[in-house]
Amino acid sequence: MGMAFDLRTIYAMTALACVVLGCVQGAAFFTGRFGRWLAWWSVNNILLGLASCLIVLREIAPDFLSISVGNTMTIVGCALLPVAIREFAGRKTSPWIVLLMAGLPSLPYFTVFTDPAHSMPRIVFSSAVCALFDMAVAWEARRLAREEKLYSAELASGLFALTATLYGARAMMGWWGSLGDGPLFHNGDQTHAALGLVAMLLLTLRCMVIMMMATERTQLQLQSAAYHDALTGVLNRAGMSRAFGELPRQPLGVLLIDIDNFKQLNDSCGHAVGDDVLKAFAFAAHAVTRPGDLVARHGGDEFVVVLPGLSQEEAAALAQNMRKAFSTTTAGLATECSTRPTLSIGVATGQTTEPETLEAILHKADQALYRRKRDGRDGVDVFVGELQAA
Ligand code: GH3
Ligand code: MG
Repeated sequence: MGMAFDLRTIYAMTALACVVLGCVQGAAFFTGRFGRWLAWWSVNNILLGLASCLIVLREIAPDFLSISVGNTMTIVGCALLPVAIREFAGRKTSPWIVLLMAGLPSLPYFTVFTDPAHSMPRIVFSSAVCALFDMAVAWEARRLAREEKLYSAELASGLFALTATLYGARAMMGWWGSLGDGPLFHNGDQTHAALGLVAMLLLTLRCMVIMMMATERTQLQLQSAAYHDALTGVLNRAGMSRAFGELPRQPLGVLLIDIDNFKQLNDSCGHAVGDDVLKAFAFAAHAVTRPGDLVARHGGDEFVVVLPGLSQEEAAALAQNMRKAFSTTTAGLATECSTRPTLSIGVATGQTTEPETLEAILHKADQALYRRKRDGRDGVDVFVGELQAA
């Protein structure tokens, strides 16, 4: 005989690991810096830990506790994970569904699977149920990975698919009788014990991956906040210069946009209406631009739009559309105040290739914008180069 695993020792180690992990997660939850999903995950670990404790006490504690209550805790614990991951993704789960999901599969442990001499039907049943719950988690994690582009959710999905497979395998092996039967700690089956050991490892890994998901999401949120304007949701200067730097080499059109008489609008209609006009601009800009175009607030009432691949004529045409869209979106706002906001737009073209920088193209667009402001605002001017300067 090689190395022998003692099943009772493995359950005891699992119990300890789960309770410690659950307490750490619970402590983290009570800092108030995490969502309720962490509380569910913590309760899951504590329930699994207590269930393992009760299972360790088989033949020592009353059978009712060790068998009926222990298995119920395992099932309720596993049912909480789909709830936790849905909560993480911002989805609520009806308490009735949870009660049903956890309650129904627990019933047999108080009615049919109570004979201490036959552990295998219990193991087969709870493994099958937990496999389903883990599959649900894998599914939700996959959806999360797609929706939020969270790489670690992809990892979580793979890990839960693996544990679902292992649970499923255990259910099937138990069903075919290859795990033996009889009282839990007396069949001496090494496969069962080895599976328990692997399960413990995966349980710990799952906790690590969910924390990675939280970290990755925070990271993405911070990054997004650093690169976007809080009021309008478009890019800020830093966001524009980063996104511009990532564009493939190509010619492009650039618009420099300034809202006309904005100061006057602020004064006569109030700052809040001014803010609404800025938001209306962002809305109109998104309505007329294509998915790869970049829209940024350059500061105050000035915006920059980068249009990869567009010629000067195309960019100027898009600028005209933007004025129309802006006029439509602000039509409702204008009824409550007399000043009607309009746009002055300067158009220039350039290349993403060095040494031409966004600043250089903007300098040209600024000259066109300046001319538009001087010549009566509310319109589009294109930069026509050195000829004009003469
Ligand atoms: P012009 O037609 O020449 O552009 O005139 P203007 O009144 O728009 O002049 P200017 O561009 O200098 O005015 C910008 C004003 O925008 C000044 C400032 O009070 C206002 N502003 C800047 N940021 C905000 C903001 O976040 N919200 C609001 N409501 N107003 C802002
Ligand atoms: Mg202005």
